[in-house]
Amino acid sequence: MTRQASLPPIAVIGAGFSGTMAALQLLSVLPPERPVLLCERGGSFARGLAYGTGNPAHLLNVRAANMSAFPDQPGHFEDWLARGELSGKGPDAGVAATPAGTFVARGHYGSYLTELLTGAVTGLVTGPGGPRLRLVPDGVVDLEPRAGGFLLRTEGGQAHGVAGAVLAMGNLAAAAPRSRHSLDPWSPEQFGRLHPHAPVLVVGTGLTMLDAVASLRAHGFAGAILALSRRGLLPNAHAPTPTWPIPDLKPADFASLTRLLARIRAEVARAEAAGVPWHGVIDALRPLTDTIWRGLPPTERARFLRHLRPFWDVHRHRTAPPAAATIAREIERGALTVRAGRLLAVEDEAAQAVVTLRLRGARAPERLGVQAMIDATGFGHLAQNRDPLLRRLSERGLVRPGPFGLGLDAGADYRALGRTAGEGAGPLWVLGPLLRGVLWECTAVPDIRNEAADLAGLVATSLDRAAAA
Ligand SMILES: Cc1cc2nc3c(=O)[nH]c(=O)nc-3n(C[C@H](O)[C@H](O)[C@H](O)COP(=O)(O)OP(=O)(O)OC[C@H]3O[C@@H](n4cnc5c(N)ncnc54)[C@H](O)[C@@H]3O)c2cc1C
Repeated sequence: MTRQASLPPIAVIGAGFSGTMAALQLLSVLPPERPVLLCERGGSFARGLAYGTGNPAHLLNVRAANMSAFPDQPGHFEDWLARGELSGKGPDAGVAATPAGTFVARGHYGSYLTELLTGAVTGLVTGPGGPRLRLVPDGVVDLEPRAGGFLLRTEGGQAHGVAGAVLAMGNLAAAAPRSRHSLDPWSPEQFGRLHPHAPVLVVGTGLTMLDAVASLRAHGFAGAILALSRRGLLPNAHAPTPTWPIPDLKPADFASLTRLLARIRAEVARAEAAGVPWHGVIDALRPLTDTIWRGLPPTERARFLRHLRPFWDVHRHRTAPPAAATIAREIERGALTVRAGRLLAVEDEAAQAVVTLRLRGARAPERLGVQAMIDATGFGHLAQNRDPLLRRLSERGLVRPGPFGLGLDAGADYRALGRTAGEGAGPLWVLGPLLRGVLWECTAVPDIRNEAADLAGLVATSLDRAAAA
C-alpha cells in the first residue's frame, strides 16, 4: 500500500482513563500518517469521573502497585510516585502507606494521567500531517456513517471525517433523579449548599456512598446520614494478603452458579488453612473472571445479577483501609447509619423530600424527611440514557444494549454490535465500563489498561485492511 500524506483520523470519544489509554495505545501502533482525535466534553482531559477529585480523602481503591497505566510496565505508576517530590507534591501528601499496601489520592492519579497525555500532545508524536494527537474539547453528538467511516459532529458544531471511532464514554448515566432534592454524587460542590445538620439519605452503600460521605464532611455537613441499599452491605477493606495461585477451574466448575460457589468456597477454605485470607483467592480469580462470566449459562448469569452481585461486589471491589476506618468511625459515633431496605416512594416538599422506606426487619414502612437524597446506586441502562450520541447511535441501529441490559453489546474484538444480531456497526469499537455486560471485568485500571492495548492492535489491523482494500 502506498501511504498517503495523511490518513483520516480515528476518533476516541471520552477522555477518562479508557479514552486516554486508547489514544496513547493507538498512537503507538497506528502508522504516523493516521492522527488520533481525542474528544472530551468535560472540562478536563485524562482525569474522567474518577480522578478529577481534589479531595485527599478520596483514595484509589486499588493499591498503587497495581495502578500502572501500561500492561508491559507494571512499576510505571510507582516510579512516577517516587519522583513526586520533583513535581512539588511531596512524598507524603495524599499517600497512605498501610500494611495492606500503599493507597494514593485519586487526584494524584489524575495528575499522572494528565502528565502522560501532555507528553503525547507536546510534540513527542508528530506525523506528516501535523500533530498526531489532536484534542477536541467538545461533546460528540453524532457519528453519521460516511465513506466507510463516519462524519463526527460535536455539540459546538464541528464536523470531522473519521475512519472509525472508539466509544470510551464511561458508565451509562443513572436514570433521571427521583426528587428535586436529589444531588449528584459526582458534583460534590453542590454539597456546600446543604444545611449543616438536617438529615441526608444516600441510596446505595458501596464505594460511591463512601465517597459521598467523605465529600459531605469535606463540605462542612455535620448532620446524620442514612445509607440504604437492598442488602445493606459495605465494601470490605483491603488486607495484607500473600498471593494465592490462580485456581485451576475447569469449564464444568462454572456450569452452574451453585457449583461455582462451592468450588470457590473450597478454594477459600484451602487458602485459609494455608494462612491466606479470602482476599487472596478473590484476587487470584481476577484473570479468570471474564472466562467464568462468558462460560456461565445465561440463566446462571441472570441469577448472579439478581442474587449474588452485591456479595461479589463487596468482596471484589474493596476499599482502601483508611477509607474503611473513616466509615467505621462514622458508624461508631452514630453519624452514619447503614441499613438494608427499599426506597418505596419519594414525595417532594418545598424544603425536603419525604421518603417512604421499608427497612429490613421492620413491621411497617417508615416515613422520613430528608433535606437531600444522593443517588449512589451505580449506573443506568441504554434505554433510559439521555446522552445525545448514544441516542443517535441507537436510533441508527449502530449500537444495542449489552447482555442483561448492561452497557453496550460488542464482539470479542470490541466492535460494537448493532440492532440486528451479528451485524457489526462498522468501524466502531467500545472500551471501558460500557462493556460491563460483555466482559464483566472492564471497570478498573488493571483490566482497562490491558483491554486498551488489545483494542488498539485490533483497530490498527482493521484500519490497515480497510485502507488496503
Ligand atoms: C469514583 C470512582 C473511583 C474509582 N476508583 C478506582 C480506583 O481507585 N482504581 C481503579 O482501578 N478504578 C477505579 N474506578 C473505576 C473507573 O471506572 C476506572 O478506573 C476508569 O476511571 C474508567 O474510566 P473511563 O474513561 O472508562 O470513564 P470516565 O472516567 O467516566 O470517563 C468517560 C469520559 O467520557 C466523556 N464523555 C462521555 N460522553 C461523551 C461524549 N458524547 N463526547 C465527549 N466526551 C464524552 C465524559 O465527560 C468522561 O470524561 C473508579 C471509578 C469511580 C467512578
